Amino acid sequence: MRIMAGDVSLEVIGTGFEGWVTLTGLNTGPSGEYTQTKKILEAHSIPGRKFVFCQQVQSLRVFFLDFDGEDIRVYRYSGRWIDSHLQIDKEPVGPQVYKKCVLAGCLGEGDGIISRVPSLVPGVTVADCIPIFLHQKGRGSSAFLGSPIYGTLHSGWQGTGILRVALAGIQDLWGVRPDDIEVGLGPGICGSCYIVDAERARIMETRFGSRWIREVAGKGEWKNVPQFRVDLFGINREIAKKSGIHLIHSPVHCTKENQKYNSFRRSQDSKRMFAFTLGKDST
Ligand SMILES: [Zn+2]
Repeated sequence: MRIMAGDVSLEVIGTGFEGWVTLTGLNTGPSGEYTQTKKILEAHSIPGRKFVFCQQVQSLRVFFLDFDGEDIRVYRYSGRWIDSHLQIDKEPVGPQVYKKCVLAGCLGEGDGIISRVPSLVPGVTVADCIPIFLHQKGRGSSAFLGSPIYGTLHSGWQGTGILRVALAGIQDLWGVRPDDIEVGLGPGICGSCYIVDAERARIMETRFGSRWIREVAGKGEWKNVPQFRVDLFGINREIAKKSGIHLIHSPVHCTKENQKYNSFRRSQDSKRMFAFTLGKDST
């Protein structure tokens, strides 16, 4: 299936399950600039819905969009690693209040959006990093009378743990517990293909433990340089398990090994996939 976004054709390469979509063929420009992405996404429209996205900076920062039927309130939570401890704080963000018809496009620097605004479609761009999709199972324990919670996160190596930031914000803002949330992982680089240097491996080990990291023998000019494989899928699955959420979709579809996906490690180009989540009650 192909859909048009302005003058760019995007191919829908997978729907993990209803409403969770990853598009391929998006080009962010030679230097990875966000301007083109923004233009493409703004030009694209699904009837009655608008895309919202972030200027992605490999962070642990997540936007939250609350909705009272008239106004949208924007909040942002940010995570910060102190060795193996993830410190999560609510950050000031402004302007904070928008009319429903106004908010769309880029919200600012961050790597995930959680929304309760049915007409908005939160998305992230990825090419090896793992897109994470969330939605609320039902109204569950929430006292909120509005729409269910849903969202999309971008989890690269520096952003691994962003799922915890999202869950903390959801609980803090809306009192919704992790066991009311269902999560899926989209295509990303697998634990065999994701190879990093010793410094990055050490940081990941401090944060997530040693079981997701394996030393590999270097080849050719890298023969004497220590290299390590890191399993980002494994880490995210463990985060999901420990958090108490329902991980209902997490096949390892490796972006580097499958030509149908965009992979920075394989192609070294600026092509990206766009992954987004449609709210169940969207109109
Ligand atoms: Zn792979």
